[in-house]
Amino acid sequence: MKIAVLAGDGIGTEIVAEAVKVLKALDLKMEMESALVGGVAYDAFGHPLPPATLALAKASDAILFGAVGDWKYDKLERQFRPEQAILGLRKELGLFANFRPAICYEELVDASSLKPEIIAGLDILIIRELTGDIYFGQPRGRRIATDGHFPGSEEAFDTMRYSRPEIERIAHVAFDAALKRKASGGAGRVTSVDKNNVLETSQLWKDVMVEIGQQYPDILLDHMLVDNAAMQLVKEPKKFDVVVTGNMFGDILSDEASMLTGSIGMLPSASLNSSNQGLYEPSHGSAPDIAGKGIANPLATILSAAMMLRFSLGQADAALRIEAAVKAVLAKGLRTADIYGKGGAGITKVSTLEMGNAVVAALIAPAK
Ligand code: NAD
Repeated sequence: MKIAVLAGDGIGTEIVAEAVKVLKALDLKMEMESALVGGVAYDAFGHPLPPATLALAKASDAILFGAVGDWKYDKLERQFRPEQAILGLRKELGLFANFRPAICYEELVDASSLKPEIIAGLDILIIRELTGDIYFGQPRGRRIATDGHFPGSEEAFDTMRYSRPEIERIAHVAFDAALKRKASGGAGRVTSVDKNNVLETSQLWKDVMVEIGQQYPDILLDHMLVDNAAMQLVKEPKKFDVVVTGNMFGDILSDEASMLTGSIGMLPSASLNSSNQGLYEPSHGSAPDIAGKGIANPLATILSAAMMLRFSLGQADAALRIEAAVKAVLAKGLRTADIYGKGGAGITKVSTLEMGNAVVAALIAPAK
């Protein structure tokens, strides 16, 4: 089991250090190798995704990723901005399927800005297509101005595109995931989110979803326009099971869903290619506003490491152990600042490091 550890910028180093600690505590045979990515790689090598980092990622079974980006790089030409590293890894490794489970832990019901009855017991899965759509259409890579516009031009454009095979493969991922969830009590439902009332790409998306859906008679497929989906996610999130959507809509909806779980610091993600090689990262960014303060929540990254064990490394038992340890520390009342809420009796505010240590302790000596 070879893992590339790419911590990146901002809180990336702080949260990945805790996830690495948790992985080491499992005492499994795994090799971990670190490399620079994002702004720190640009500072050291003049590129956010240096060839050696890409080579390490390609040669590994899985990548544990922190986050990239900082406002100080905003003036760079787009191709050198830290965020290009993550787009480059997705494209180079063909990581087309992004899994973002949004689970509301019982203990964090009060940390969400929504009413407890809306989110208690929430367990939904957002599947976002990751290598197509407007982020990869023209004129990606052709922009050379620092302000996101063509030099000297009064207009800019991006092209939204999807091909049938791209939609087919993400559709299969979504229906297969719904089948798996159904086997353990899931609703057996896929909601495909698009904007087919105005976009041709969305019409193709919907048509292909319907076609592929016919191969899965045990799964109910429904469709929702993205504006309505954004509303329903906060109105009645529990009526969803698996949501499948394109790259841009998925980007926005999955961040929205993160707040259903209490904090973006709780939401893990997995991005897989067709051979189950994957990149595992928290759904949030590098949080420059809190970087270096030791207060970031490492749980999304630790839970991403659990997804890595399950999806790419064939270690489902170890994944369950991590997830149980996370539940145990939450049950003990430990909270980083973002999930502290109103505090109260039995609730203790902890640092990034203390949260990581507590997960390790719960792993080593699970509560009976
Ligand atoms: P962000 O996700 O970094 O932060 C949004 C808010 O959530 C901030 O207030 C932050 O403090 C808080 N937050 C995020 N993670 C947290 C955690 N683990 N614990 C506690 N609080 C947390 O989004 P942003 O501020 O819009 O972006 C900051 C930088 O991150 C930008 O450069 C952006 O491009 C980049 N970014 C990178 C990725 C990635 O690496 N995949 C994803 C999103 C944003």
